[in-house]
Amino acid sequence: MIGCLFVVSGPSGTGKTTILRKILERQDNLEFSVSYTTRQKRECEEEGKDYFFVSRDHFEDLIERNEFIEWARVHDNLYGTSRKYVDSMLENGTNVILDIDVQGALNVLRQRPEAVYVFIAPPSFDELKRRLEFRGTERQEQLQTRLRNARWELSKIKRFQYVIVNSDLNHSVVQLEAIITSEQLRVDRMKDRLHGAGLDFREVDVRDN
Ligand code: ADP
Ligand code: 5GP
Repeated sequence: MIGCLFVVSGPSGTGKTTILRKILERQDNLEFSVSYTTRQKRECEEEGKDYFFVSRDHFEDLIERNEFIEWARVHDNLYGTSRKYVDSMLENGTNVILDIDVQGALNVLRQRPEAVYVFIAPPSFDELKRRLEFRGTERQEQLQTRLRNARWELSKIKRFQYVIVNSDLNHSVVQLEAIITSEQLRVDRMKDRLHGAGLDFREVDVRDN
């Protein structure tokens, strides 16, 4: 059975990383796709776990070699998703979750309409600003860029299938888990499993009564 691809997106500071960390602790058959980035590593981050931190030359070489499903310039840095990693996991039957910006999500949507698209929205713009300031990982100028970009990103919500307003963290985690569970139970995704259990999917025209 092919795995299911979940694309989680939304403005920087809305809580995507925090929610995904919790989800990944709780879900067995779900792997996080570690992106490549040219951004500087933050103190709390680990190479190969949070990102693969690479030089701009290395990143451009990966673009040339068509190694990315999508890549984008986000808040002045480059970020990209490994095609090889995602496809090998999916072919293996493992579900994969991406944490990517809205440009990236819309790009994946064009190529993979069968994936599941979830937008994580902040409870308000003021709260988004407060979270970014509280996280304290960006200088004032970078923080302003992220807030400016957030307006454009929020305007794309309607292109997604689901939206979670991340007010209460635990509630958001439960909601994302509900989406992951429901999507896996869709009849079209269950076909192989049902077939394996001897249940035939072809429609039968004649019935006894
Ligand atoms: P993103 O990955 O979307 O950029 P983060 O996960 O880094 O966002 O979260 C940004 C900040 O907001 C972090 O300091 C995080 O602890 C905090 N945060 C995340 N979710 C919530 C929430 N539901 N309520 C309050 N603070 C939150
Ligand atoms: P940060 O620098 O805060 O880790 O991430 C900034 C933004 O880049 C976030 O919105 C995050 O979702 C996004 N991002 C992370 N990896 C990728 C990726 O591979 N592709 C794209 N398009 N965006 C990414």
